[in-house]
Amino acid sequence: MLSKAVVTELVSICGRERVLTEPEDLIGYSFDATAALPRRRPEAVVLPVSTEEVVQVVKLAGRRRIPIYPRGSGTNLSGGTIPLEGGIVLVTTMMNSILEVDAENLTATVQPGVIVQTLNDAVASYGLIYPPDPGTVATATMGGTVAECSGGLRGLKYGVTKHYVMGLEVVLADGNVLRAGGKTVKNVTGYDLVKLFTGSEGTLGIITGITVKLIPAPEHRRTMMAVFDDLDRAAKTISEIISHKVIPATLEILDRVTIQAVEEHARIGLPTEAEAILLIEVDGIREVVEKEAAVVLEVCRRQGAASIRAAETDAERDELWAARRAALPALAQLKPTMVLEDATVPRSKIPEMIRGLNDIASKYRLKIGTFGHAGDGNLHPTILTDVSDEEEMARVERAVDEIFTLALQLGGTLSGEHGIGMAKAKYLEQEFGPAGVEVMARIKHALDPLGLLNPGKIFPPAQGKILSQGEAGVKEQTPAAREGLG
Ligand SMILES: Cc1cc2nc3c(=O)[nH]c(=O)nc-3n(C[C@H](O)[C@H](O)[C@H](O)COP(=O)(O)OP(=O)(O)OC[C@H]3O[C@@H](n4cnc5c(N)ncnc54)[C@H](O)[C@@H]3O)c2cc1C
Repeated sequence: MLSKAVVTELVSICGRERVLTEPEDLIGYSFDATAALPRRRPEAVVLPVSTEEVVQVVKLAGRRRIPIYPRGSGTNLSGGTIPLEGGIVLVTTMMNSILEVDAENLTATVQPGVIVQTLNDAVASYGLIYPPDPGTVATATMGGTVAECSGGLRGLKYGVTKHYVMGLEVVLADGNVLRAGGKTVKNVTGYDLVKLFTGSEGTLGIITGITVKLIPAPEHRRTMMAVFDDLDRAAKTISEIISHKVIPATLEILDRVTIQAVEEHARIGLPTEAEAILLIEVDGIREVVEKEAAVVLEVCRRQGAASIRAAETDAERDELWAARRAALPALAQLKPTMVLEDATVPRSKIPEMIRGLNDIASKYRLKIGTFGHAGDGNLHPTILTDVSDEEEMARVERAVDEIFTLALQLGGTLSGEHGIGMAKAKYLEQEFGPAGVEVMARIKHALDPLGLLNPGKIFPPAQGKILSQGEAGVKEQTPAAREGLG
């Protein structure tokens, strides 16, 4: 529990209505969308409405040595917002203004709590889009997606969040406000601080303002679905489409376990014996799109797709998308707990990765459904389990270890878009080596010497322990002890 004095100060900064301390109000902030992680209730939740309020809260947290956890909508899948050490959860959802749409410079400037879809709705009338589109586009905040460097379904053609963030306002751990980047397409002044904070998962500062690049909305799109009885042929189709210089906006794959789950859940007529389904969408100028769609269909035919469909109308497009949209909810029906990973490999390694995942599933007697963004190698192996079954969870843990080892062996990465959070921290050194982790730890220490910003995230437990002791070990370890400070 925070002391009365701290709560009073928080209330004087944000107002009574925007400071939550009752247990029933705090429970919802003790977890996020990540399954099978321990929950931890914060001691207070604050909902600031301005950068100045964030500054005041951060300064107070610094004076009192209270950990602080930035949070948008809590939809992340890496335990990124769990308040591991108690303290204050700072929720940005009330900082939700679109400050500017600059159609001349093709930029928008927003507060962090703006929902991604809300920004897209606002720029649609200008004939523009903001491309990063995580599955949670209708719920995730701009701040959360920038802090996570989210990807999405259009990543293959349009890239991910970091390709669109041009400028940031960040409240640093000492309460100073940093402004980096801006509206110019070219900007090579000094270190690229915008990129540093993009994907920093709330560990380096609190993002309070974001300027992003917008692009013209594609005028036309074509959606196609191809069913394969042979996984290798599906994978070859992916690389062959791209080698024909067609970069689809979307190139998604569903494996057999996922196809069967979707069919059982939604009954949309999917062939349950198929090895893989590819969902492909090309977009752009009408004439180009039609040409590209013809290439895609031809490649699918040549690779021996068992069946191919191309949507002619919006309704047909929706039908084709139904399978992909149903993938996660369908898998979720099969068991009480879903452990969803986002190990990513070069796209040429997708067959090896999927086969490896099947081997891991057999070895540990687990059901793993795999779907995801095949075009960019970003797969979502989803382990279907039950968190209350300790013996099975031990097998799940070993399977996850092997999934990450396999992804790295294939030249991939731990995370294509979901971030490290607390869930993957222990694997960080496997990808970066000790020198890489050390460089990151030094950056963290330089910007957050007391270790108060989202402690317990990104860094492996041993490194995190050193960091969380902060400068000269001044950080108190218990809430009661820390109340003596400041
Ligand atoms: C069903 C489902 C589908 C998903 N699909 C995708 C997908 O396709 N692609 C994808 O990339 N992700 C996906 N995600 C993951 C998730 O939606 C994204 O990570 C999203 O960006 C999180 O946004 P949020 O507002 O919920 O952030 P939160 O979960 O609240 O926070 C995410 C991280 O950002 C930090 N943070 C939040 N706001 C700030 C801020 N203002 N300043 C500094 N740090 C901050 C938090 O501390 C945390 O570390 C999916 C999740 C679910 C549940």
